[in-house]
Amino acid sequence: MILSNAWIVTMDDAGSEHERGWLHVEDGRIATVGSGDPPTPGEDLHGAVVTPGFVNTHHHLYQTLTRARAADADLFTWLKTLYPIWARIDDEMEYAAARCGLAELALSGCSTVFDHHYVFPRGVTGLVEAEVRAAEELGVRIAASRGSMDLGESDGGLPPDSLAEKIDDVLADTERVAALADGDRVQIVVAPCSPFSVTTRLMEESAALARRLGLQLHTHLAETVDEDAYCQETYGCTPVEYLERVGWLAEDAWCAHCVHLSQAEAERFGTHDVGVAHCPASNLRLGAGIAPVRALLDAGVRVGLGVDGSASNERGDLFFELKQALLIARGRGGPGAMGVREALRLATRGGAAVLRRDDLGSLEPGKRADFAVWRTDGLELGGAEDLVAALVLSGPHRVDRLFVGGDEVVRGGSLVNADEQEIAREHRKQAARLWR
Ligand SMILES: [Zn+2]
Repeated sequence: MILSNAWIVTMDDAGSEHERGWLHVEDGRIATVGSGDPPTPGEDLHGAVVTPGFVNTHHHLYQTLTRARAADADLFTWLKTLYPIWARIDDEMEYAAARCGLAELALSGCSTVFDHHYVFPRGVTGLVEAEVRAAEELGVRIAASRGSMDLGESDGGLPPDSLAEKIDDVLADTERVAALADGDRVQIVVAPCSPFSVTTRLMEESAALARRLGLQLHTHLAETVDEDAYCQETYGCTPVEYLERVGWLAEDAWCAHCVHLSQAEAERFGTHDVGVAHCPASNLRLGAGIAPVRALLDAGVRVGLGVDGSASNERGDLFFELKQALLIARGRGGPGAMGVREALRLATRGGAAVLRRDDLGSLEPGKRADFAVWRTDGLELGGAEDLVAALVLSGPHRVDRLFVGGDEVVRGGSLVNADEQEIAREHRKQAARLWR
């Protein structure tokens, strides 16, 4: 497959772009990228912009079933309102939720999605499988997780006791789910939920298990001032100090949010190569604060973007998140705090680095052919000269085409492998079951 007459943003180390370029895809991978006319005529993209497919580094797909609840609450109140509802989830609901969330993300140019699932009601055993099936059917990559909570209310945690699992059950099930990983379309991550819902022992044993199985580690960290106070009160230290204590300040871990980090802690993340999933829309929605992304990037930290669950960011749209990351960085640190191409890099290369996927995130020979095609002839880009800057600053409503491993997943702004309306109908039916 050869695609020509496009502005190709490679996101290679040098930041190379081909303003009138072409792309040659073979066997699901990028074979060559070049400027001018391709060696043999290909399909004309009529001046579209082509970027690497986006990588979402933090999500809770099941939360599409519980949007806009506790709409004015802080994190802890919001969680306490929703836990009892989430406790009723089953495989069928999860499947519908995953289809909805993954479809939304694909239509925003996202080819790889990390999902942090940590609600496992007793007796419900196929939740991760349901997500993986949804991703396979839509044609997108998924990094699914066997998350966990084992610190219930009666032991000083935030979640109700009914959602607190036993450590041995968590570890055994994580090992079972790890077999779903295929080294290509499906990745599995070990992901205990947060310092206020997981015991120290489970944090430590999760790390040991992940290292034995060669899996990445993920958790929520330093999201709100309430979490900071909880850690001071319970563990006598900051969330980052706690992370170090449980052996997680390491290159195989990444954390969501990291809003409340000191300068020294941001530097410690850089020194120890811990990754960060930056989720600006969710942090703003819950009034959690603004993560020090400039400081993290200057410290050499791997930073990717996450839309976070749709109960705290009702719009599962990675392009919207990219624009939000740019605006929020400038709001915090001034106009020089983030460049437009730097924001685009967070959504692509940055996300791939966070997931430790060096085969994704850029359009270079040998990389997997995950890329998004953005039309440039619509209303919102009129008058623009630098079309890449115009895309980032406007934030398109929908991708035109999305390819994953060379396979077309979105064409003309519509899903290739599924019917969007059918997904929406089924999703509403399952949401009604959850809320009954
Ligand atoms: Zn989250």
